[in-house]
Amino acid sequence: MSDADTRADTATADPAGSGWPETEVCPGCGAVTAAVPGLGNRSPGASASCAGLFEVTVRGLQEDAAQDVPTAALLQLATDGYAAQHPVDGEPAAAAVRLCLWLERGTDPLRAAELAGRVDDAAPRLPFRPVRWTTTVADLAADLDVVDLPALVRSWADAVWTDWGAAHPAVRAAADAALPSPDAAR
Ligand SMILES: [Zn+2]
Repeated sequence: MSDADTRADTATADPAGSGWPETEVCPGCGAVTAAVPGLGNRSPGASASCAGLFEVTVRGLQEDAAQDVPTAALLQLATDGYAAQHPVDGEPAAAAVRLCLWLERGTDPLRAAELAGRVDDAAPRLPFRPVRWTTTVADLAADLDVVDLPALVRSWADAVWTDWGAAHPAVRAAADAALPSPDAAR
């Protein structure tokens, strides 16, 4: 199985197939996925197979983002949703702050680069993380055949933000601090 074919298979590996696959539990989102040998992990806070599943799921968005503004915005939302679901202990919650900006403050996700410094300065270090997640990338990949990706990404990002509920006051305050004042006054 090539890693390009792992999209849904990692979430639904057949135990009666050619040998019981090794599975791994993602330390970020808790998804149980088949371990894919040789998959490098570029996402701290996630298992290699979960990060690989995310990459495969958004590959189409990455291919189109350079030519298409709405796709670039959706890819930014997906990237921040994934990062917010895979926090690294002790690191500032910048991804959660960005999710708040895109989802609650109506900020254009394409301003991520412009706001990066302000978001990093404002992002709080959160002493906890959600104990459970409503939707993971494994759920998203499993639904991809019946629901289109933009709708899935939006509802998943909404669910990630909702799951962070206990941190909303701190994250909202940071999001408002990250917006330049003309935005904040709106
Ligand atoms: Zn994960």
